[in-house]
This record gives sequence, structure tokens and C-alpha cells, in this order.
Amino acid sequence: MQLIYEKSVAGRRAVQLPTRRDDAQPRINRQLLRAQAAELPELSELDVVRHYTALSRRNFSVDTHFYPLGSCTMKYNPKACETAAALPGLAGLHPLWPQLRHGGLLTQGALQLLYETERLLVEICGMAEFTLQPLAGAHGELTGCMIMAAYHRDRGNKKTHILIPDSAHGTNPASAAIAGYDVCTVPSDAQGNMHLDALRKAVNAETAGLMLTCPSTLGLFVDHLKEIAEIIHGVDGLMYYDGANLNAILGRVKPGKIGFDLCQLNLHKSFSTPHGGGGPGSGPVGVVEKLRPFLPVSRIVKRSDGTFSLNYDEPRSIGYIAPFYGNFGIIIRAYAYLLMLGREGLRETSDAAVLNANYLQEKLRPWLKAVAPGRCMHECVFSGEPLKAHGVHTLDLAKALIDRGIHPPTIYFPLNVSEAFMVEPTESESRETLDGFARSVSEVLELAKRDPDALHHAPVTTPVGRLDEVAAAKNMDLVFKSVP
Ligand SMILES: *Cc1c(COP(=O)(O)O)cnc(C)c1O
Repeated sequence: MQLIYEKSVAGRRAVQLPTRRDDAQPRINRQLLRAQAAELPELSELDVVRHYTALSRRNFSVDTHFYPLGSCTMKYNPKACETAAALPGLAGLHPLWPQLRHGGLLTQGALQLLYETERLLVEICGMAEFTLQPLAGAHGELTGCMIMAAYHRDRGNKKTHILIPDSAHGTNPASAAIAGYDVCTVPSDAQGNMHLDALRKAVNAETAGLMLTCPSTLGLFVDHLKEIAEIIHGVDGLMYYDGANLNAILGRVKPGKIGFDLCQLNLHKSFSTPHGGGGPGSGPVGVVEKLRPFLPVSRIVKRSDGTFSLNYDEPRSIGYIAPFYGNFGIIIRAYAYLLMLGREGLRETSDAAVLNANYLQEKLRPWLKAVAPGRCMHECVFSGEPLKAHGVHTLDLAKALIDRGIHPPTIYFPLNVSEAFMVEPTESESRETLDGFARSVSEVLELAKRDPDALHHAPVTTPVGRLDEVAAAKNMDLVFKSVP
């Protein structure tokens, strides 16, 4: 497909605005005007419409196809939540509008929405307080690590490192390091459980805390949480819960009640915001009572007269971590989603997510090597090791699924499973879709036995086939050079 610049024809125009006779002089200061016109593509309106429509059809999305990307919770985002976020009274708000004027009509509704969303998350996670400010999961982790640091400074604790299991998402060690901590990796076993002895060995008086994902990246609920929390709390360390996998336990387990002191959620995974492709995110952070004073400003408070305001006067706060009040549009979607589902709906969400993953795990077990001997939580992880006997790899299976209209599951992650193939079906998929997926996997693996080479060339139905992903990442070339 040609780039829009390549389709350009000098002098071709889309909309032409009439020049106003009485206003022929530009109102912009001449010194600020360009000396030469910008090199923009010149096309008709129809050219532009066709170009972008064609591009949009090449998109792969949850709205078009099954997207079982493990560790990502790519679930369906109800359109009702989109409608709520687009309501003119919310979408048109400017963050600098005064909080209260003309009888409180300006931003009180928005503040109330933020306040109530915080209350709902407090209830779901069993925490004392929440901030909605962080703009991504990783940003929430960083905020959490900064809160840990502020807590230890306040107590006069000398803490130098944070413990992180080897199965953790890569953002965990990055966040701990940016917050100024050394990272100590704790090994886990094949089921993703932490070795308690290794943990005991790693912990000392300088341990600031432990970052843990539960269920782990292997899709399994972590064992020995109580002992782990006792070990960490024994040195006045803090238990951090990475809530990106909350979809597995929504409405069933509250992190704040099982030993965790602070957590981040990924609203753009669990609570109705599309993600992937680096769009806007939201990573609210919840804390137990003793960490409340360290939350970032501003804080939304409800006054005794029932109105809401923003409080910046928090002497022990870690300060600003984002401009304004978080990614408001995403918070609106989460609020609408939570009100639609209610307590029962949240439980059904995680129940169905876990049921779907177990259904798929059993359907695929005859074909691939499941990591979990028994039940899994919201995702199932396999090793593609047996495929090697036919001269194919997990990568070939993933690429062949693209030709069957399926986004490949996560592959080669988690790192502690060789030839990993990680499927997260989520609660939104029907039994027919899951059966269809299992059928596609079995067809591909049948083909692998008969004609392995057929898989080495997949995908063949896409505009481009096998890309050199390493070269694309390492030698990025994003600059358009004029066509001669
Ligand atoms: C997605 C994810 C994150 C990071 O969230 P971002 O919003 O992408 O920064 C952290 N931990 C786990 C387990 C995740 O799956």
C-alpha cells in the first residue's frame, strides 16, 4: 500500500475555504509565519477517505477478531461505556475549569464521579484509599514504589532494595529501579510459586518490600501468601500487589485482605478501556491506612456540605505524579462499567474468565504441554516443546493462527517456560469462539506433522509475512524520504 505522501499530486485539494474579502491580511504576526509552505500531502477528500478507510480495515482488534493475548486481558469493552465517556458534559470539560462557581454547576459532577470511582475501587480491593492519578500500570507501580520510599523515610528506615520474583512483568523491576531501589530477583518454581527458602535468604533489614502478581504470570494463584506476607512484614517491608491480573479474582478476593499493603490496577485491562498499541491507560493505586498520608496530590475530598473539592495540602504526600486528575475519559469508562456490573456482575466476570481459561486448557491439553497439572486461573500457559519433534516452533504455530483470523496468544513469555504459548480467553468469548480456537490450533498441529514447511511461511494472508522484528526495533526508520 502506498503512503499518503506517495499518493500526493501537486495542487490537488480537498475542502476549499472561501477567502473573506475584508480579511485578506493574515491576522498572524508575519514574523511567525513560515517562509515556505509545509510539505504536506496534497489529495482530494475522496483520496483521503479511501486511504484511511483502507488503513483501518487492516487493523486487528477485539471488535473484529478473537484476541487471546495472555497477560493482557484483551476483553470486549462495552459500547455503553464509550457512550458515557463521550457525553458532552464530561468530554467537553476543561481540567482548568473552576471547581465550584455559579451554584456548583461547573465541575462538581466530574469530581463526584472521581470520588465515587475511588470508593468503588476501595471496596473491590479492600484498601483504605485510592488515587486515580497514575496514567498506566507501570506508572502506578512507580507511584507505589515512591509511596514505599516515602513510608520508609518517614519511619527512619534504611531500605535499599525491593524483591521481585523472576516470573514478574518487566515493568516491576523497572519501576523499582526508577524509584531508586536495587532489585533482588527471587527464583520461583515451575508452577510460578516463590521458593520460601530463597525468599527468607533474600530478605533482610534493608528490604523495602516485595512486588507480587497474583495470579502469577503463569495464570496460577500464588501459594503461601500468608507466610510470604509474614516474612516481608517481619522486617517492616511492604507487600505490593501488581493488579494487572485482577480480572481473575474480581469480586472474589480483595488484595487488601490477604496481606497486601498497596496495589495498582490496570483500568485499561480489567475495566473497559481498549488497549494494546500504546493508547492511554490508567493505573490507580490503592493503599492501606498507614500509607494514606503519602498518596500523591491532589486528593478529592467530600466536604461536610456534600460538595467535592481538591486538596493539595498534604504535607507527607509524594507530590505530583501527573498533571491534572488522571486520564479522566478512562476513569469514566471504568465507573460506568462498575455501575453496570455491580457486585454480582463483577463476580460473574471473574468466574467466567476463569472457567473459559480452564475450558481451553483442557481442550488444548492433548495438543500442547500445559504448565498447570490441575486448574488454572484466568489464563493457561503451555510449552510448545513437543512441536520441535516435527521441526516447528511456537512461533510457527502463532504465525499460522494469523492466517486463521486469530491474534496469536502471547509467546515466549513467561521466560521460565520454554517455547511458551500463553492464552487468556477472557470472560467475553463464547463457547463457539473457544471451540473454534481449539479447532484451529489442532488443525495447525496436524498440518505440522504432515507438512511442517507449510508453517514456516505463515502468515500468507497478510500484507506482509515474516518480519525481521529485531531489525525493525533496532534500526528504526520512521523518516519519510521524498519519492524521486
Ligand atoms: C500489563 C502489565 C503491567 C504494565 O501495565 P502497563 O499499563 O502496560 O504499564 C504490569 N504488570 C503486569 C502483570 C501486566 O500484565
